[in-house]
Amino acid sequence: MQQAALETWYQRRPWQVALGFFAGYIAITGLSLPGAALLTLVAGAIFGLLWGTLIVSFASSIGATLAFLASRFVLRDWVRSRFPAQLGVIDEGVKREGGYYLFTLRLIPVVPFFIINLAMGLTAMRPRSFYWVSQLGMLAGTLVYVNAGRQLARIESPAGILSPGLIGAFLLLGIFPLLAKKAVDTVKARRVYARWKRPARFDRNLVVIGAGSAGLVAAYIAAAVRAKVTLIEKHRMGGDCLNTGCVPSKALIKSARLVSLMRRGEEFGLKKANPEFDFAAVMERVQRVVRTVEPHDSAARYTQLGVECLQGEARITSPWSVEIKSREAKKILTTRSIVIAAGARPLVPPIPGFDKIEVLTSDTVWGLRKLPPRLLVLGGGPIGAELAQAFARLGAKVTQVEMLGRILPREDEEVSEMVRERFAREGIEVLVGHRAREVRLEGARKLLIAERGGDEVAIEFDELLCALGRVANTAGYGLEELGIPVTRARTVETNEYLQTLYPNIYACGDVAGPYQFTHTASHQAWYAAVNALFGKFRKFRADYSVIPWATFTDPEVARVGLNELEARERNIAYEVTRYGLDELDRAIADEEAYGMVKVLTVPGKDRILGATLVGEHAADLIVEYIAAMKHGIGLNKILGTIHIYPTLAEANKYAAGVWKRAHAPQGVLRQVERFHAWMRG
Ligand SMILES: Cc1cc2nc3c(=O)[nH]c(=O)nc-3n(C[C@H](O)[C@H](O)[C@H](O)COP(=O)(O)OP(=O)(O)OC[C@H]3O[C@@H](n4cnc5c(N)ncnc54)[C@H](O)[C@@H]3O)c2cc1C
Repeated sequence: MQQAALETWYQRRPWQVALGFFAGYIAITGLSLPGAALLTLVAGAIFGLLWGTLIVSFASSIGATLAFLASRFVLRDWVRSRFPAQLGVIDEGVKREGGYYLFTLRLIPVVPFFIINLAMGLTAMRPRSFYWVSQLGMLAGTLVYVNAGRQLARIESPAGILSPGLIGAFLLLGIFPLLAKKAVDTVKARRVYARWKRPARFDRNLVVIGAGSAGLVAAYIAAAVRAKVTLIEKHRMGGDCLNTGCVPSKALIKSARLVSLMRRGEEFGLKKANPEFDFAAVMERVQRVVRTVEPHDSAARYTQLGVECLQGEARITSPWSVEIKSREAKKILTTRSIVIAAGARPLVPPIPGFDKIEVLTSDTVWGLRKLPPRLLVLGGGPIGAELAQAFARLGAKVTQVEMLGRILPREDEEVSEMVRERFAREGIEVLVGHRAREVRLEGARKLLIAERGGDEVAIEFDELLCALGRVANTAGYGLEELGIPVTRARTVETNEYLQTLYPNIYACGDVAGPYQFTHTASHQAWYAAVNALFGKFRKFRADYSVIPWATFTDPEVARVGLNELEARERNIAYEVTRYGLDELDRAIADEEAYGMVKVLTVPGKDRILGATLVGEHAADLIVEYIAAMKHGIGLNKILGTIHIYPTLAEANKYAAGVWKRAHAPQGVLRQVERFHAWMRG
C-alpha cells in the first residue's frame, strides 16, 4: 500500500520526490544517524536500479563528507573520546596505505560507515580525496543494496518471495562482503608481491625462523603433516623459555622456596633451621635442570621428528627465500611459506649511567655465581617480581623499584597488595612510584637515582637487574627490506590469521605478541603452521578468547579472562565472588592458608568472565576455570563436581558455593521453610 502510494507520488512529482529523498539521505548520513542501509533498499524500490544507485551514491558520499568535515572542524574532541580504539586503527591504516585503505574499508565495512566518516575526519586525508574514494568504494555495495530493494518492490504475492530475481539479489547481498574481501585480498597481495620474482618451484613448504617455543611447535606441526620444513636457529635450540626464561627461573624459584620453607621450619613443628648452601651450587643446579630439559627441544629430537634443523642466522631475502648464514657457509632456501618466530629480548632503556655498570637482565643473570649482597631489581612486572623474591630468599638484600603505583600492575589492586605484603614480610623493599633517572658511581658505590614525586631518591646497590619488559626482535633479518610493518608495541604486525603484510609470511610467539608466554607462543604457532600449509583451502583465526597466565611468586598469582581492572576499563558489567584460602582445610594443614579465589561472573548468571587465584599452586588450580571458560561451563557445574578432600582444588568449588549462596532463591526458600513447618505439624 505504502509502496504503491510512494510510486504514484514519485510518478506525479519525480523531481520533488527524488530531491526530497536525496536531501533526507544526506541528512541521515551527515548526522551519522542509523537507517542508511534501509533507505538504500527503499531507493531501489522507488527509483529503480539506475536512478536509485545514482541518488544513493551521490547522497551517501556527500553525507559522509559532511560528517567527515563536522568531525574535523567541530566534533574533534567528542570523536576522540567516543571511538579511541577505532581511531587508532584507522589512523594507522591511512598513514600506511592512504586512500587505498579507505577504499578497502568502504568495500568491506568491517567498521560501521558512520565511524569511518568521523574517524577519517581526524586523519590527514584531504576532503576531496575522501569524497571520491568513498563514492568509488561504496559504489558496488550501493548497487547490490539498491538491486535488492528493487527486487523486493517487485513482489506482488507471497509466492513472489521465492522469485529467482529476489533470491539472487539477497544471495548477492549475503556474499557481497565475501566477494569484496576476496577481491581486496587479491589486489593487496598483487601489490605487495609486485616487486618480487617468484621462484618457479620451491625447495621447501615451510621455513621457520627461530627455535623457541613458537618455532619448535610450528616446525613440529609441519613435520607431523609430512611437509618439508626447515627450522633455523642462530643461538640455542629451545629459545628463551628453555635457556633464559621459564625453565631456569622456575628452577631457581624452587631452590629459593625450599630455603624459605626450611627457614619457616618452626611453623611446621620443627626446630629452627638455618639452611646452609652455596649460591654457586644453586645456580649450577639451575643449569643442570636446563640441561635435563634440553633434549626435549634438541636438534636431534626434531630431526627425528622430520624437521630439518639448521644452525645459523636467517635473513628473509624475498617473500619466498631465506638466506642462512653460518660459520661455514651462506645458502639460500626457497620456500612456499615462512614462519617468523624470532622471539623477544629484554628491554634495556638508555638510562644515563647504565653504560658505566654491567646491567643484568634475564639473559645474563643466570651467569651469576656470587650472590650480590644488595640486588636492585628494576621493574615490578612478573619477571622482576619472581626474580626479586627468589634472590631475596637466597639471601640478597633486594630492593624492587617500580615506576607505577604498585607491583604486578596488570592485576587487581588487592592482588598486588597481597604479593607486596608477603614481599615486605620477607624483607624485600618495594619502592613504587619511583622512576629510575640515572645510575651514578661515587667511588666504589653504585647508586640508582630515582625520582619520586619530584624528589630525588638514591638507592645503593651491588648489582642491578633490569626487568622493564621485553621487546620483539624485528631488526636485521629482512623485515625492513621487505617493508613488513611493526605495530605500536613494536611487534611484527599480523592479521587474525597471523599473516604479515605478505600472506605467505606468518609470525607467532613473542615477536608477534600481544602476549609473551610460552603457552601463547605455541598456541599461535599451531595457527601459523596450519594456515601456512593449508591456508589455500581453509584458514583459522587465532583464538584469544581464553588466555591464562601466572606469576610464580609466593603467593602465586594466576589469572584467566577478565579481572576487575579490565572489566571496568571495558565497561563490562560483572559480579565478584571471593573465597579466602585462610578457610580451606588443606591450606591450613599445609601452613599456606593465604590468598583467595576471585571469580567474576555475568550479573545474575553463573557464566564466568574471569578468575584470579592467589596462593599456593594457583597456576595449577586455575586450570579448572580455564577449562570452564573454554567450554562454557558455569559455576553451578563446578559446584556440582566432586573435588577430592582435602585438596587445594576444593577452593574452586567453595568459591562456586559462595556464588550459589549469594544467588539462593529467597522466595522459594521461604516457601520451603513454610513446608517444613507444616510437616512438623
Ligand atoms: C625470566 C623469564 C621467565 C619467564 N617465565 C615464563 C613462564 O613461567 N611461563 C611462560 O609461559 N612464559 C614465560 N616467559 C616467557 C617465555 O619465555 C616466552 O614467551 C617464550 O620463550 C617465547 O617464545 P618464542 O618462540 O616466541 O621466542 P624465543 O623463545 O625468544 O625464541 C626465539 C628464537 O629465535 C632465534 N632467532 C631470532 N632471530 C633469528 C634469526 N634471524 N635467525 C635464526 N634464529 C633467530 C633466537 O635465537 C631464539 O632462540 C619467561 C620469560 C623470561 C625472560
